[in-house]
Amino acid sequence: MPDIGQKIKEAAGAVDNLTKFKKFSKLKASYIEYDKFADSSLREGYFCYNCTYWINTTGGKCMLVQDDGPDVMGKVSNVIAPHGCCSGYEPNYDKLHDTRTPDQGLSVDSEKNKEKITATDVT
Ligand code: SF4
Repeated sequence: MPDIGQKIKEAAGAVDNLTKFKKFSKLKASYIEYDKFADSSLREGYFCYNCTYWINTTGGKCMLVQDDGPDVMGKVSNVIAPHGCCSGYEPNYDKLHDTRTPDQGLSVDSEKNKEKITATDVT
């Protein structure tokens, strides 16, 4: 039978670890948000919208970056905007869509693309 004291210590340790987790500030993450991209097709580029860490359901938040504070241009929006991006960007292949023509896609090893994607692969 597990020792109840040990169980309490484990639970307290888990809560402590959660409270120690700190998100990066927008500045530290090199987050940037340009208004001119707000009306762009967000499915076709490097935007928070296409990032695995972006959370839409709670209204523009990120699992890694704080939503308050200024971005690298000094802009304060208090959200992680779908048209923003930072140095921690990780592509979400379920959202990104490939804009190459079918011919262009034939010569490309799409599995290799998933390892390293470049600006010429996704526009
Ligand atoms: S690009 Fe950066 S700020 Fe945007 S969702 Fe991804 S990790 Fe968060």
